[in-house]
Amino acid sequence: MAMALSISGCGSDSDSNRNDGYGGGAKLTEQFVRSTIGDITASSSVTVQESDTLPDMTNENANYWDCNSIGGLCAYEPSNGVAQEDGLKRYSISADDLAINSIPVYYWNEDGSDRKDPRFMYAMEQIQKIILPKGKVSDIFDIRGMADIPTVEFWSPDYSNLPTEGGIIFSVGTAGNHGNVGVAPHSQQIYNSMIDHNNIILGDKGWVWLNLDNPEGTKIASNEVAVHEFAHIFFAGHMENRYDDGKGNSYTVTDGHFDGFGIHGAFDERAEAVLRAMYTNPAGTTKENLVIQL
Ligand SMILES: [Zn+2]
Repeated sequence: MAMALSISGCGSDSDSNRNDGYGGGAKLTEQFVRSTIGDITASSSVTVQESDTLPDMTNENANYWDCNSIGGLCAYEPSNGVAQEDGLKRYSISADDLAINSIPVYYWNEDGSDRKDPRFMYAMEQIQKIILPKGKVSDIFDIRGMADIPTVEFWSPDYSNLPTEGGIIFSVGTAGNHGNVGVAPHSQQIYNSMIDHNNIILGDKGWVWLNLDNPEGTKIASNEVAVHEFAHIFFAGHMENRYDDGKGNSYTVTDGHFDGFGIHGAFDERAEAVLRAMYTNPAGTTKENLVIQL
């Protein structure tokens, strides 16, 4: 069970660390993009937060979106209705929404330094070129600088000094392998994303950590691995994959990977096509109605 709840395989030598473009597997076709988005969508089950268990927004718990689930999408303000289960779920990138709801981004270093690792900016720029080609990083991401998180308990970082109720936190030296996304530093536990009834993920509600490099410094993420990890946040699905260990045994891991994204390549043209299709179709679009341009 624990394995099924972790994002595993990110940055492993066998897949994510490869940077050779087209590494095998499925060909890039419209059908590939459609079925992959269908799988991501189908896996993005929405947990409704019961009103009597909503966190008290007036105290320090305001930034802890537990949502009574481990990994997945949590309905925000469920009284207004919840996201369509089978529709496309993504962040909003409309100019009007971004003016009030861009995605907060913070840097954090365990040693208290104010270093801003350039791999994170690289990853932000690459993702933005795909989902908002004519934009610039500041259109989607609200870069807030260093996060004032004085001490980090393994399961519950103290977010009470931060000015938002969620966002993305970049951290170096806190990955289990080359890189991962998780609920905290040194954790591969899948984070929760908050989602509204329009199938829009709320970037300023709920926290996700992007961890690069292991603490020993023996597993260092390449730029492409940084893009891969950042893209996990935008795919917002935690679908399962079945792997073969080469010895006749198969096992299931909830890692959200697909051909071109963690399988046969870290992040290649197939991942790019899937991400672009997700952000050029309206949130809520069903698999059958996706307009796909390769
Ligand atoms: Zn991954």
